[in-house]
Amino acid sequence: MLHLPLYVQGAWLVGAMMFIFGLKGMGSPTTARKGIVWAGVGMLVAIIGTFLVPDLNNIALILLALVMGASAAWISGKKVQMTDMPQMVAIYNGMGGGAAAAIAAIEFAKAGRLHESHDTVTVVLAVLGALIGSVSFTGSCVAFAKLQGLMKKAHRLPAQNFVNIGLAVLAVVLGVLMVISAPAGIALVVAFFVVALVLGVVVTMPIGGADMPVVISLFNAFTGLAVGFEGYVLSNPALIIAGIVVGAAGTLLTQLMAKAMNRPISNILFTPITGEAQGGAAIEGTMKELNAMDAAALMRYASKVIIVPGYGMAVAHAQHKVWEMAGLLEKAGVEVKFAIHPVAGRMPGHMNVLLAEAGVPYDKIFDLEEINEEFAQADVALIIGANDVVNPSARTDKSSPIYGMPILNADAAQNVIVIKRGKGTGYSGVENALFYTDNCRMLYGDAQPMAGEIIQNLKTLE
Ligand code: NDP
Repeated sequence: MLHLPLYVQGAWLVGAMMFIFGLKGMGSPTTARKGIVWAGVGMLVAIIGTFLVPDLNNIALILLALVMGASAAWISGKKVQMTDMPQMVAIYNGMGGGAAAAIAAIEFAKAGRLHESHDTVTVVLAVLGALIGSVSFTGSCVAFAKLQGLMKKAHRLPAQNFVNIGLAVLAVVLGVLMVISAPAGIALVVAFFVVALVLGVVVTMPIGGADMPVVISLFNAFTGLAVGFEGYVLSNPALIIAGIVVGAAGTLLTQLMAKAMNRPISNILFTPITGEAQGGAAIEGTMKELNAMDAAALMRYASKVIIVPGYGMAVAHAQHKVWEMAGLLEKAGVEVKFAIHPVAGRMPGHMNVLLAEAGVPYDKIFDLEEINEEFAQADVALIIGANDVVNPSARTDKSSPIYGMPILNADAAQNVIVIKRGKGTGYSGVENALFYTDNCRMLYGDAQPMAGEIIQNLKTLE
């Protein structure tokens, strides 16, 4: 880095600082959009800095890669549905890990250049970055395939945990050999990358169901680490800082999500929920229906209504109608609050983003810990396209695959109304005991027209 001109180093540093400001901005919904722009401009500054490197080679190839990458990102970014965001995040994240691993591969392939021009610490970091980046790349690709519905089943190998550990140990041994056998032969390098890439696939294949958000976040942290390590190898401060920022943010997010699911990371990796689970105790009772008029009346004459949005609200794009409905209730003197579960929807913060887009003020949106006690005082809990996040089996049924996951205590409300299209289960595939309880009524239909019907009926009650 020191032999590079000051303006190149300066551009990289400015870019890296803008990543940090960008991330800070993303910490709050009010400044998130600005944060994204800051980070994007930071990336542009870092790229411009790279083009200012004296005697830069392969400029045509770099430009081609930039055009290809930017076009793919632009088109997919424009087209992606909000509900498909997790797989988008997974695949982009995988690309980051893959890019870090590719940097290391090129360095090793240059006939041991790493060993001649770098000290042992650099070589160790190159190997670590290659390992973590490769696992993140193939793991994220498998996560993408699962979330996109391309891979329906969770595949568990016989003695899965031994296979995982065996492959991880083998990858580390090969990595150590690469460090000590300077310069590493091409056969060793290829064997190392094959094992690392296979490890990512094998670890991710059995994971599914409600564990997916945590896994995506874990790979995000991996990618950050890998990029940071390879930044050190390339003496590029922008990569180092960006990698550290992504690695730290990803690690914190992983911890938060794992806590929200009450699932230690080790359980997620070694005893995963498969996503096909139908387990859990048999549920007694029947689902009882009500119509939109009854739902409107129940809420119109209530003192307090807590709305629990979930994945179904996102699919139906019902957030605007839901907010309009909440406005009518408030006008009638009803206290309305929104309760958000940390893994509601299909990405962290999914519901917050949708409600913010619809104009719901932040002071009406509450996290699980903030609102859970309040359900007992609510006259109505209105559940809109949510399922797993309000499933009381998670609290009581030890045989349920989601046992232990903290849930929103919607069942404690005096009345529960659930808007959903039919009898479909949630993402985890587990039946929901709440829907069969005495105080629960089902309002069958797509969330958007149903919210519209409630609005029409509320207007007749004015
Ligand atoms: P769920 O996936 O548990 O349930 C959604 C419910 O919405 C379904 O039961 C479905 O029932 C209903 N639904 C679907 N479409 C519509 C529609 N158009 N109108 C009305 N209802 C509809 O959602 P939750 O938000 O409760 O839970 C999220 C789950 O996703 C958790 O298990 C979480 O772990 C997982 N997950 C979360 C991620 C995250 O980062 N937040 C990422 C990946 C997974 P029906 O078919 O009968 O309509």
